[in-house]
Amino acid sequence: MAAQNKMIIFSAPSGAGKTTLVRHLLEQEDLELAFSISATSRAPRGQEKHGSDYYFFSNEEFNQKVEEGAFLEWEEVYAGTKYGTLRSEIERLWDLGKNVIFDIDVVGGLNLKSLYGDRALAVFVMPPDEEELENRLRGRGTDSEDKIRQRMAKARKEIGRSDRFDHILLNRDLERAKTEAYNLVKLFVGA
Ligand code: 5GP
Repeated sequence: MAAQNKMIIFSAPSGAGKTTLVRHLLEQEDLELAFSISATSRAPRGQEKHGSDYYFFSNEEFNQKVEEGAFLEWEEVYAGTKYGTLRSEIERLWDLGKNVIFDIDVVGGLNLKSLYGDRALAVFVMPPDEEELENRLRGRGTDSEDKIRQRMAKARKEIGRSDRFDHILLNRDLERAKTEAYNLVKLFVGA
């Protein structure tokens, strides 16, 4: 059982490697982490499942939840696509005695940090440089040129907000970044 349930927030521009780092941390049993499953209005991709990758809602369902005040934070991360953190999700995981880890965009991450203060550790995953970030986005092969340009513009804005996070974790070398992430979280949760 975690001594006092905490929040670990990982935010980054798309392509910086935050999802890989979050997955790595979830495998470290001593940290007692559980992933906060977000709600989204987008459709599932590939093998994604409702209730494990996301809670997939229709636009109407999502808006209904907003009206009910069910979200701690929510945002239209991409035009027409909303994402949000359900209050009930955090409570569910804290009730299990877990520390909750988030893979969430920069604005959402800072919103959670301002709600939870010292109970939250907000980490910004920094890509080595713009060129490398662009290469990684291209390498994924999932985005059109136009999408890549949009993601790069968003990334520049997000990097401009990185100094508001508790910690900036440079992801130049993935193995090093994994070790640094583990050490940071371990210290924070006191595991
Ligand atoms: P994707 O559609 O690729 O799974 O995620 C798109 C973006 O939405 C990512 O940057 C992801 O971190 C962000 N995101 C996922 N869940 C949430 C959430 O609950 N709130 C906010 N603000 N952003 C989220």
